[in-house]
Amino acid sequence: MVCWFTKSIIIINYKKSQVKDVNTASKKYISNDILKNELTKKHIIKKVRAKKKLVQDEWNFLQQNPISDLSENLIDSFLYNYFALKINSDDEKEIVLIRNFSNYLRDTDPKRAIDKLYKTLPDEPDAVFKILEINKLFSPQKIINLLESGFTEIAISCLSIEKENYTKDDLKVMNKIIKHFELLKDKGEFKKLKGLLGKQKDIYICPNGHSNHIESVFCEDFDCQQNIKGLTRKDVRKINSFKNKVETLRLLFDN
Ligand SMILES: [Zn+2]
Repeated sequence: MVCWFTKSIIIINYKKSQVKDVNTASKKYISNDILKNELTKKHIIKKVRAKKKLVQDEWNFLQQNPISDLSENLIDSFLYNYFALKINSDDEKEIVLIRNFSNYLRDTDPKRAIDKLYKTLPDEPDAVFKILEINKLFSPQKIINLLESGFTEIAISCLSIEKENYTKDDLKVMNKIIKHFELLKDKGEFKKLKGLLGKQKDIYICPNGHSNHIESVFCEDFDCQQNIKGLTRKDVRKINSFKNKVETLRLLFDN
């Protein structure tokens, strides 16, 4: 009893790292595997902090031994590192890298991965979109947020991202997305123009102010091509394909 008391006093007076030493002292031995594991862990944390790229073996290690120290800041540095480098999506090495990185985030903390990636999306749309797409990280709520923040084009691109499983709650939010597009206000207008000899002519003015033939649903200007809601033919196609997906999902839930 006296002995235990004395030991406690010593532990309290020790610094944190020394307490660990005392605890370790009670262990009979440390296996070489545990030691190697710890060294690899340290090495990886150091590398990540120095914003250096990890090799496949290190990614595998991380996958099997998630490091809780790999906090928000470290994720930030990953995002900064890989996205700022303008990832070349055709490069197999880079694809492996993106996949490893996002697999890790998805497996260790999917909510954080989704939060981070969608937050970074407007700054680095191409690279982040690739990661979301490869890893099937569709998040209807994040798409609503993008739409509400005015990132319509990016939000439309995200409609094609898939998800491993869809819930009824997902379906609800997906319907909300469709509703959002249906309620889009007109950005362009139809106008009556006085032509030669006082004859009136109907024209379509696109959201960017280009004058078009009344029957042109999409602006005839090659670089514009917007309809009255500010959507291009491609946007409309993507939205329709999403509507089809949502409708099919609804039927699957109902049957
Ligand atoms: Zn136009």
